[in-house]
Amino acid sequence: MKAFTKIPMTTPLVEMDGDEMTRILWAMIKEELILPFVDLKTEYYDLGLPERERTKDAVTHAAAEANRRLGVAVKCATITPNKQRVEEYNLTEMWKSPNGTIRAALDGTVFRAPILIDSVKPQVRGWKKPITVARHAYGDVYKATEFRIPGEGKAELLFTDRDGNERRETIYDFECPGVLQGQYNKDTSIRAFAHACFRYAIDTKQDLWFSTKDTISKQYDQTFKLIFEEIYESNYKATFEKLGITYFYTLIDDAVARVIRSEGGFIWACKNYDGDVMSDMISTAFGSLAMMTSVLVSPDGKFEYEAAHGTVTRHYYRYLKGEETSTNPMATIFAWSGALRKRGELDALPALVEYADKLEAACLQTLRDGIMTKDLTGLVDEGTPVTAVNSADFLKAIRSRLENLLICE
Ligand code: NAP
Ligand code: MG
Repeated sequence: MKAFTKIPMTTPLVEMDGDEMTRILWAMIKEELILPFVDLKTEYYDLGLPERERTKDAVTHAAAEANRRLGVAVKCATITPNKQRVEEYNLTEMWKSPNGTIRAALDGTVFRAPILIDSVKPQVRGWKKPITVARHAYGDVYKATEFRIPGEGKAELLFTDRDGNERRETIYDFECPGVLQGQYNKDTSIRAFAHACFRYAIDTKQDLWFSTKDTISKQYDQTFKLIFEEIYESNYKATFEKLGITYFYTLIDDAVARVIRSEGGFIWACKNYDGDVMSDMISTAFGSLAMMTSVLVSPDGKFEYEAAHGTVTRHYYRYLKGEETSTNPMATIFAWSGALRKRGELDALPALVEYADKLEAACLQTLRDGIMTKDLTGLVDEGTPVTAVNSADFLKAIRSRLENLLICE
């Protein structure tokens, strides 16, 4: 085997390790595809649940702080504890979702994009290019206050300012039992969301679409629309025109119809709930959750790359029993390549950028050669010759192609 001159790095990546099957894949990916080729520099944080428990979750906050300080992080999937996990891991507390903690620290927007290959056709025939969903990850129904109305009575919306002045509006005069909910969002967060979307569009040279329901929600959704418009006009219009990309606002219903009829190749910015629902729809229609990448971008240009899927628990339990697993590492590898490429761009290291490109090319070549994990073999076009492999053999197949690409410089 040829010994490679390792590609140097200057600033360390923030490496956030995780749980279960993805933790196993994490180590395999580093061993097989990164350490032999890159003189890897990372600041390592173990966000695996046992370490979060041991440090009372301090490790998550430290990792988020490192992400703010160093700028670029790569994260493995982590368990978000629920009641069952509290028992399974003997937790003293139901620790918060690490993704939530990191998102709050970065005030970021989550961009999710599918990895496309020719042999796996999207469910929507016309889609030729990826569609990236940009989800505002703050407020709305996720931070709402709600309760059931037991019976007759008046529901009001009341705001009291710092001087004690009140503004009061009747929501509904209930004549029977019902439900009530109060939602909010903040201009600062909406502005951060808008900046992240415009910058990402410029970064990836794609059109940006934004949709809300401002015809019905004349204050709430209208605020989102107006803030986007104002920020576009005053900060980004000139750059968009220079790059030949467009910003386009439309109603959410119209956006849904247009997205289905489109060829793809744009970013669709959505409010929190729309983004939650639409990103699941888009990823399913493109094929597989195991092929979805995700990056959290802060308004001041900090990045956190990860796979969109979870820790693949079912596969992990099989792995623990010594059974062979065929878990797809694509999205996790692309998290690494995305983070290393960004580090290369920021530190002006063209060799690192090129390595990231070649790593992705080697992954795609492996799939084009019909070598894939079991989740994909069921999705490819009939008649495509495929070889189903386990995770370790899949990584080996990528490595041999990567070595070829790196030798042919
Ligand atoms: P999941 O880990 O995404 O897995 C759901 C199912 O999707 C798997 O059982 C598997 O189907 C398939 N799948 C997902 N990724 C795959 C891959 N790379 N290769 C092959 N198949 C894949 O979701 P979950 O089971 O709901 O959640 C498990 C844990 O992950 C939970 O504790 C949750 O809190 C956590 N989670 C973390 C994140 C994050 O850190 N960003 C996100 C979501 C969930 P089959 O079993 O049918 O093969
Ligand atoms: Mg969802």
